Amino acid sequence: MITLVYVLIPILALFVGGALYRLAYALPRRSFGELLSPTCHACGDPLPTLYLIPLVGTFLNKMRCPVCGEKRGVGCFLSEVTFAVAALLLELFVGLSFLFLIYLVTAALLLILSLVDLDIKEVPHGILFGILLLGVLLFVLSFFPSVRLTAAVWWEHLVGAFIVSLPLFIVMMITGGGIGGGDIKLMFCLGLLLGYKLVLIAFLFGIAIAALVSVILLLAFGKDRKFEVPLVAFLAVGFLLAVLVGDKFIALLFA
Ligand SMILES: [Zn+2]
Repeated sequence: MITLVYVLIPILALFVGGALYRLAYALPRRSFGELLSPTCHACGDPLPTLYLIPLVGTFLNKMRCPVCGEKRGVGCFLSEVTFAVAALLLELFVGLSFLFLIYLVTAALLLILSLVDLDIKEVPHGILFGILLLGVLLFVLSFFPSVRLTAAVWWEHLVGAFIVSLPLFIVMMITGGGIGGGDIKLMFCLGLLLGYKLVLIAFLFGIAIAALVSVILLLAFGKDRKFEVPLVAFLAVGFLLAVLVGDKFIALLFA
Protein backbone atom coordinates (compact mmCIF):
# COMPACT_ATOMS: atom_id res chain seq x y z
CA MET A 1 0.00 0.00 0.00
CA ILE A 2 2.73 2.43 1.05
CA THR A 3 4.77 1.44 -2.02
CA LEU A 4 1.79 2.31 -4.21
CA VAL A 5 1.58 5.75 -2.60
CA TYR A 6 5.31 6.25 -3.19
CA VAL A 7 4.82 5.48 -6.88
CA LEU A 8 1.60 7.47 -7.26
CA ILE A 9 2.90 10.72 -5.76
CA PRO A 10 5.54 11.44 -8.44
CA ILE A 11 3.06 10.46 -11.19
CA LEU A 12 0.46 12.86 -9.76
CA ALA A 13 3.25 15.43 -9.44
CA LEU A 14 3.74 15.27 -13.23
CA PHE A 15 0.15 16.48 -13.68
CA VAL A 16 0.54 19.09 -10.95
CA GLY A 17 3.81 20.31 -12.52
CA GLY A 18 1.98 20.95 -15.80
CA ALA A 19 -0.87 22.68 -13.98
CA LEU A 20 1.63 24.87 -12.09
CA TYR A 21 3.22 25.86 -15.40
CA ARG A 22 -0.18 26.93 -16.73
CA LEU A 23 -0.97 28.70 -13.46
CA ALA A 24 2.32 30.62 -13.63
CA TYR A 25 1.34 31.77 -17.12
CA ALA A 26 -2.28 32.56 -16.20
CA LEU A 27 -1.59 34.32 -12.89
CA PRO A 28 0.04 37.57 -14.09
CA ARG A 29 -2.30 37.69 -17.11
CA ARG A 30 -5.49 36.92 -15.17
CA SER A 31 -6.44 34.36 -17.84
CA PHE A 32 -7.47 31.43 -15.70
CA GLY A 33 -9.26 29.64 -18.56
CA GLU A 34 -5.71 28.54 -19.40
CA LEU A 35 -5.76 26.07 -16.51
CA LEU A 36 -8.34 23.68 -18.00
CA SER A 37 -8.21 24.53 -21.69
CA PRO A 38 -4.65 25.41 -22.69
CA THR A 39 -4.16 27.87 -25.51
CA CYS A 40 -1.26 28.52 -27.87
CA HIS A 41 0.71 31.38 -26.34
CA ALA A 42 1.50 32.70 -29.82
CA CYS A 43 -1.85 32.71 -31.66
CA GLY A 44 -4.23 32.28 -28.71
CA ASP A 45 -6.09 29.38 -30.33
CA PRO A 46 -7.18 26.56 -28.01
CA LEU A 47 -4.94 23.49 -28.03
CA PRO A 48 -6.46 19.97 -27.98
CA THR A 49 -7.18 18.63 -24.47
CA LEU A 50 -4.54 15.95 -25.16
CA TYR A 51 -1.97 18.67 -24.46
CA LEU A 52 -2.91 18.44 -20.78
CA ILE A 53 -1.37 14.94 -20.56
CA PRO A 54 2.05 15.26 -18.92
CA LEU A 55 5.16 14.57 -21.02
CA VAL A 56 3.06 13.43 -24.03
CA GLY A 57 1.39 16.84 -24.39
CA THR A 58 4.65 18.63 -25.03
CA PHE A 59 5.74 16.32 -27.83
CA LEU A 60 2.40 16.22 -29.67
CA ASN A 61 2.62 17.69 -33.16
CA LYS A 62 6.44 17.91 -32.94
CA MET A 63 6.24 20.52 -30.18
CA ARG A 64 4.45 22.97 -32.44
CA CYS A 65 1.03 24.59 -32.25
CA PRO A 66 -1.31 22.68 -34.62
CA VAL A 67 -2.93 25.96 -35.75
CA CYS A 68 -0.13 28.47 -36.33
CA GLY A 69 2.90 26.14 -36.23
CA GLU A 70 4.62 28.33 -33.64
CA LYS A 71 7.10 26.42 -31.53
CA ARG A 72 5.78 25.44 -28.11
CA GLY A 73 8.45 25.84 -25.49
CA VAL A 74 9.78 22.98 -23.46
CA GLY A 75 8.79 24.96 -20.38
CA CYS A 76 5.74 22.84 -19.59
CA PHE A 77 7.72 19.62 -20.01
CA LEU A 78 10.52 20.88 -17.73
CA SER A 79 7.98 22.04 -15.18
CA GLU A 80 6.32 18.60 -15.10
CA VAL A 81 9.63 16.75 -14.78
CA THR A 82 11.05 19.18 -12.22
CA PHE A 83 8.06 18.88 -9.90
CA ALA A 84 7.89 15.09 -10.24
CA VAL A 85 11.61 14.78 -9.43
CA ALA A 86 11.20 17.18 -6.48
CA ALA A 87 8.28 15.10 -5.15
CA LEU A 88 10.23 11.86 -5.59
CA LEU A 89 13.33 13.22 -3.82
CA LEU A 90 11.25 14.72 -1.00
CA GLU A 91 9.39 11.47 -0.31
CA LEU A 92 12.65 9.51 -0.38
CA PHE A 93 14.64 11.90 1.82
CA VAL A 94 11.96 13.32 4.11
CA GLY A 95 9.52 10.38 4.15
CA LEU A 96 5.76 10.62 3.93
CA SER A 97 4.80 12.97 6.74
CA PHE A 98 3.14 16.30 7.43
CA LEU A 99 6.54 17.96 6.96
CA PHE A 100 6.79 16.32 3.52
CA LEU A 101 3.46 17.89 2.63
CA ILE A 102 4.61 21.34 3.76
CA TYR A 103 7.87 21.04 1.81
CA LEU A 104 5.99 19.80 -1.27
CA VAL A 105 3.55 22.74 -1.18
CA THR A 106 6.52 25.09 -0.69
CA ALA A 107 8.23 23.50 -3.70
CA ALA A 108 5.06 24.02 -5.76
CA LEU A 109 4.88 27.69 -4.75
CA LEU A 110 8.60 28.12 -5.50
CA LEU A 111 8.10 26.57 -8.93
CA ILE A 112 5.36 29.10 -9.73
CA LEU A 113 7.56 31.94 -8.40
CA SER A 114 10.50 30.79 -10.54
CA LEU A 115 8.36 30.48 -13.67
CA VAL A 116 6.77 33.93 -13.21
CA ASP A 117 10.21 35.41 -12.47
CA LEU A 118 11.66 33.83 -15.63
CA ASP A 119 8.61 34.95 -17.62
CA ILE A 120 8.08 38.58 -16.60
CA LYS A 121 10.78 39.21 -13.95
CA GLU A 122 8.26 39.76 -11.21
CA VAL A 123 7.73 38.05 -7.89
CA PRO A 124 3.97 37.78 -7.23
CA HIS A 125 3.10 38.68 -3.66
CA GLY A 126 0.20 36.22 -3.40
CA ILE A 127 2.56 33.27 -3.86
CA LEU A 128 5.13 34.76 -1.45
CA PHE A 129 2.33 35.12 1.09
CA GLY A 130 1.61 31.40 0.75
CA ILE A 131 5.22 30.58 1.65
CA LEU A 132 5.05 33.08 4.52
CA LEU A 133 1.96 31.32 5.92
CA LEU A 134 3.75 27.95 5.83
CA GLY A 135 6.70 29.59 7.59
CA VAL A 136 4.42 31.04 10.27
CA LEU A 137 2.87 27.57 10.74
CA LEU A 138 6.26 25.91 11.34
CA PHE A 139 7.31 28.83 13.56
CA VAL A 140 4.19 28.55 15.73
CA LEU A 141 4.47 24.75 15.93
CA SER A 142 8.12 25.08 17.03
CA PHE A 143 6.90 26.52 20.37
CA PHE A 144 5.34 23.15 21.21
CA PRO A 145 7.95 20.37 21.51
CA SER A 146 5.29 17.67 21.28
CA VAL A 147 4.04 18.71 17.85
CA ARG A 148 6.92 20.59 16.26
CA LEU A 149 7.90 19.23 12.86
CA THR A 150 11.50 20.35 12.45
CA ALA A 151 14.63 20.10 14.57
CA ALA A 152 14.76 23.91 14.77
CA VAL A 153 13.40 25.65 17.90
CA TRP A 154 11.37 28.88 17.75
CA TRP A 155 14.23 31.39 17.89
CA GLU A 156 16.07 29.50 15.12
CA HIS A 157 13.06 30.11 12.84
CA LEU A 158 12.97 33.78 13.90
CA VAL A 159 16.71 34.30 13.34
CA GLY A 160 16.32 32.45 10.02
CA ALA A 161 13.86 35.05 8.76
CA PHE A 162 16.51 37.79 9.08
CA ILE A 163 19.88 36.08 8.74
CA VAL A 164 19.91 36.23 4.92
CA SER A 165 17.20 38.78 4.17
CA LEU A 166 18.62 41.57 6.38
CA PRO A 167 22.18 41.57 4.94
CA LEU A 168 20.65 41.43 1.43
CA PHE A 169 18.42 44.36 2.32
CA ILE A 170 21.43 46.38 3.52
CA VAL A 171 23.35 45.51 0.35
CA MET A 172 20.35 46.63 -1.73
CA MET A 173 20.16 49.91 0.22
CA ILE A 174 23.88 50.61 -0.30
CA THR A 175 24.15 49.55 -3.93
CA GLY A 176 20.68 50.69 -4.93
CA GLY A 177 19.92 47.56 -6.94
CA GLY A 178 21.58 44.35 -8.01
CA ILE A 179 19.39 42.35 -5.69
CA GLY A 180 15.66 42.47 -6.21
CA GLY A 181 13.21 43.19 -3.40
CA GLY A 182 11.41 39.99 -4.35
CA ASP A 183 14.51 37.89 -3.65
CA ILE A 184 14.85 39.52 -0.22
CA LYS A 185 11.21 38.89 0.71
CA LEU A 186 11.56 35.31 -0.48
CA MET A 187 14.60 34.74 1.75
CA PHE A 188 12.65 36.21 4.69
CA CYS A 189 9.79 33.73 4.15
CA LEU A 190 12.09 30.75 3.51
CA GLY A 191 14.17 31.69 6.57
CA LEU A 192 11.13 31.63 8.82
CA LEU A 193 10.16 28.27 7.34
CA LEU A 194 13.58 26.61 7.48
CA GLY A 195 15.33 28.15 10.48
CA TYR A 196 18.69 29.88 10.27
CA LYS A 197 20.91 26.85 9.63
CA LEU A 198 18.98 25.46 6.68
CA VAL A 199 18.22 28.86 5.12
CA LEU A 200 21.94 29.72 5.15
CA ILE A 201 22.64 26.44 3.38
CA ALA A 202 19.76 27.04 0.93
CA PHE A 203 21.13 30.50 0.13
CA LEU A 204 24.74 29.32 -0.24
CA PHE A 205 23.71 26.42 -2.49
CA GLY A 206 21.47 28.71 -4.56
CA ILE A 207 24.14 31.40 -5.02
CA ALA A 208 26.85 28.83 -5.76
CA ILE A 209 24.76 27.17 -8.48
CA ALA A 210 23.75 30.57 -9.91
CA ALA A 211 27.43 31.59 -10.06
CA LEU A 212 28.41 28.30 -11.68
CA VAL A 213 25.68 28.57 -14.33
CA SER A 214 26.62 32.22 -15.00
CA VAL A 215 30.26 31.26 -15.57
CA ILE A 216 29.23 28.42 -17.91
CA LEU A 217 26.93 30.77 -19.88
CA LEU A 218 29.68 33.38 -20.03
CA LEU A 219 32.18 30.84 -21.36
CA ALA A 220 29.66 29.43 -23.84
CA PHE A 221 28.27 32.69 -25.23
CA GLY A 222 31.03 35.20 -24.52
CA LYS A 223 30.90 38.22 -22.28
CA ASP A 224 29.34 40.52 -24.89
CA ARG A 225 25.88 39.18 -24.18
CA LYS A 226 24.25 40.37 -21.03
CA PHE A 227 22.63 37.77 -18.83
CA GLU A 228 20.15 38.42 -16.12
CA VAL A 229 20.42 35.66 -13.60
CA PRO A 230 16.92 34.55 -12.57
CA LEU A 231 17.84 34.27 -8.92
CA VAL A 232 14.47 32.96 -7.68
CA ALA A 233 14.87 29.69 -9.61
CA PHE A 234 18.33 29.13 -8.12
CA LEU A 235 17.14 29.97 -4.62
CA ALA A 236 14.35 27.40 -5.16
CA VAL A 237 16.94 24.76 -6.04
CA GLY A 238 18.87 25.84 -2.94
CA PHE A 239 15.73 25.32 -0.84
CA LEU A 240 15.24 21.81 -2.19
CA LEU A 241 18.89 20.84 -1.60
CA ALA A 242 18.75 22.29 1.93
CA VAL A 243 15.68 20.26 2.96
CA LEU A 244 17.06 17.12 1.30
CA VAL A 245 20.67 17.08 2.51
CA GLY A 246 21.03 20.21 4.69
CA ASP A 247 21.03 18.32 7.99
CA LYS A 248 23.71 15.90 6.78
CA PHE A 249 25.70 18.87 5.46
CA ILE A 250 25.52 20.59 8.89
CA ALA A 251 26.58 17.38 10.65
CA LEU A 252 29.53 17.09 8.27
CA LEU A 253 30.64 20.71 8.84
CA PHE A 254 30.38 20.62 12.62
CA ALA A 255 31.46 17.04 13.21
ZN1 LIG B 1 -0.69 28.87 -32.27
